[in-house]
Amino acid sequence: MRVLITGGAGFIGSHLAEALLSRGDEVLILDDLSTGSLENIRHLKNVPKLNYWIDSVMNKSLLAELVDECDLVVHLAAAVGVRLIVESPVRTIETNIKGTELVLEAARKKKKMVFIASTSEVYGKSTHFPFREEDDLVLGSTDKGRWSYAASKALDEFLALAYWKERQLPVVIARFFNTIGPRQTGQYGMVVPNFVRQALEGKPITVFGTGKQSRCFCYVGDTVAGVLKLLDAPESIGQVFNIGSSEEISIEDLAMLIKTKLNSDSPITYVPYDQAYEAGFEDMPRRVPSTAKIERHIGWYRSTSLDTTIDLIAEYFKQRQKPLPYSFTAKPQTSYPQLENTDAVA
Ligand code: UDP
Repeated sequence: MRVLITGGAGFIGSHLAEALLSRGDEVLILDDLSTGSLENIRHLKNVPKLNYWIDSVMNKSLLAELVDECDLVVHLAAAVGVRLIVESPVRTIETNIKGTELVLEAARKKKKMVFIASTSEVYGKSTHFPFREEDDLVLGSTDKGRWSYAASKALDEFLALAYWKERQLPVVIARFFNTIGPRQTGQYGMVVPNFVRQALEGKPITVFGTGKQSRCFCYVGDTVAGVLKLLDAPESIGQVFNIGSSEEISIEDLAMLIKTKLNSDSPITYVPYDQAYEAGFEDMPRRVPSTAKIERHIGWYRSTSLDTTIDLIAEYFKQRQKPLPYSFTAKPQTSYPQLENTDAVA
């Protein structure tokens, strides 16, 4: 199969590209490097079944050409990270809404299946735990920037489901819950890479708010395995699935766990939300997925503990870009015309 990954040089996209290549699929990556990085795919540059284009999904003619060349589109290109969302709301809304609209429209013209990456943010302030796919979404007011991300992703879901119902475009939607692992950068606010780097560098570990808020962190390899299984199951079409872990931890305990595991002397400091983000910032006190639907549907369970995942992330930061042990067993080339790489990896 030939798979187009928008955002394929990003954190999740690069892991998905590896997993697809390792099972013999061809991968086309379209990424504008706004939050992704060539570093993430540098170790794949000699794999013959990988081609990549450094460009935006907003480049309609290139998008149309790549959609035409592939069998399936995995749309991961999006504005991510709470810090980025709070600081650049226009970019967030435009990237998420326009980008998805263009991808769905290009896929409809060529009748290609589309996977849409959504987020646990869409559940917003709901207190109905664990979050089930059919639950109501509870978002905050429009003057609080963070909710623009949830609203834009919810609109992406509505649009994708509308394309399926009204125009028979096969779509699959997954809501990722706090995916973590090697190659995730703390630059856009994500807590685990920030804490691991702070602990390794002996700098203060910055817990925002009281630290009593909790999350369930899921290893990226498990998330990617869930995506692949969903794509292989025809009955996933037209449906929404949570992908996440049910191992819940408070941010305060996470800070302590990382500090202890890494034998760090870093102090743990508490930073008020209005200093960390902006005045009036609203955080979610808890976020827990129900994974009953995906377990029932495709037998997916997350299998990597938080403990193990923190080890992998710490190892990554210690030895930047050590390739993960995927094997690229070559399969016969298909008869598709090969597109040229547009840029050489430096
Ligand atoms: N957080 C923190 N310190 C950091 C970054 C984040 O305490 O350096 C907190 C953040 O306020 C939130 C949680 O960690 O309560 C998870 O943040 P992240 O941005 O990773 O994901 P979110 O669940 O908010 O999308």
